[in-house]
Amino acid sequence: YERLLTGAGVELVRGHAVIGGPHTVCVGERRIRARYILVAVGGQPQKPGIPGAELGITSDQAFYLARLPQRIVVVGGGYIAVEFASIFQGLGVETVLLYRGERLLRHFDADLGKALAEQMQRKGVRVVLQREIHSVRRAGALELTLDDGSLMACDALMFAIGRTPLTTGLGLVEAGVSLNARGAVEVNARYQTAVPSIYAIGDCIGGVELTPVALAEAMAVVEHLFGAGERRVPYDLVPTAVFSNPNVATVGLSEEAARARGFDVAVFRSGFTPLKHQLSGSGERMLLKLVVDRATDRVLGVHMLGAEAGEVIQGFAVALTCGATKRQFDETIGIHPTAAEEFVTMRDPVALA
Ligand code: NDP
Repeated sequence: YERLLTGAGVELVRGHAVIGGPHTVCVGERRIRARYILVAVGGQPQKPGIPGAELGITSDQAFYLARLPQRIVVVGGGYIAVEFASIFQGLGVETVLLYRGERLLRHFDADLGKALAEQMQRKGVRVVLQREIHSVRRAGALELTLDDGSLMACDALMFAIGRTPLTTGLGLVEAGVSLNARGAVEVNARYQTAVPSIYAIGDCIGGVELTPVALAEAMAVVEHLFGAGERRVPYDLVPTAVFSNPNVATVGLSEEAARARGFDVAVFRSGFTPLKHQLSGSGERMLLKLVVDRATDRVLGVHMLGAEAGEVIQGFAVALTCGATKRQFDETIGIHPTAAEEFVTMRDPVALA
């Protein structure tokens, strides 16, 4: 990245930046003037406000553990929690995934969250739902007191409960930039803050916290400020993958989101043991699902749980960006024998409750 920047003629200034005004950034003694300022400072993992929270780690420390714990409790039900629970369990750690809600990956299609919990349990992760930690203390090992009064012992505790924007100490508010209650920079549809010359993108605006989304937002700002186009980020069609074991990936609307928006949907779903696992006897299951708008036949969402789901969904993201219909899916020739061919061979919608 540094080579790309310097090759393009960018001057890289190392240091802590503070905004000194609508057109000024201060780094130490140096005051840098610019027509526009773009804030893209990202976020950092948060910990809950419970007694003993400092005894837990976050994903920042997870890679620097002096040794592998024998038992770990991972708290949360989002990307980082399910990914790290899978990693620790795969490394042989006795792993508990503790989540306060009813199902994992709450913002994904409900079938995916339920299927992921089943598959993770099958691989040995103990998934505990609808439970919260009230306090943590060290008693030799760590002792967690849960909201029902029960105790849970572990050697390491990891919080994966979301990230907060890194917006303090930057002089943003002093310069007139508005922050919301979570500390995220408030921007308009063009990523412009309350100060017209200051823009913000990426995790620090508290939207979709994914690297490729931040890159797309950056290109939208570039076009808006220096190009002719009116580039928009297609937030409804952001493909995303969760690298849990097994993987989960998705593009477009979940069944619940499609219904909430008033679509009359047809749902196509296929759950099966992929061929190679029929041979291995591992019993690993896959889940593939399409959400289709009955009125237009447009495919609104493609969802998958199973090996290499991200690799598969990236291609379907192109199809959805092109506005593909279910009929076009049906006309597409499958690749046999793959799991993904199911996406073009599902003919009968599931009966709806
Ligand atoms: P997420 O927002 O994905 O999930 C946070 C989880 O923590 C939710 O399940 C939430 O529950 C729970 N939670 C929030 N507050 C509390 C609390 N006080 N006590 C207990 N549980 C709580 O955040 P992550 O930390 O997993 O990841 C941060 C972001 O990083 C993700 O949103 C994602 O965008 C990005 N990321 C992407 C990856 C990828 O692309 N593969 C990998 C890793 C991270 P509830 O739903 O009930 O609010």
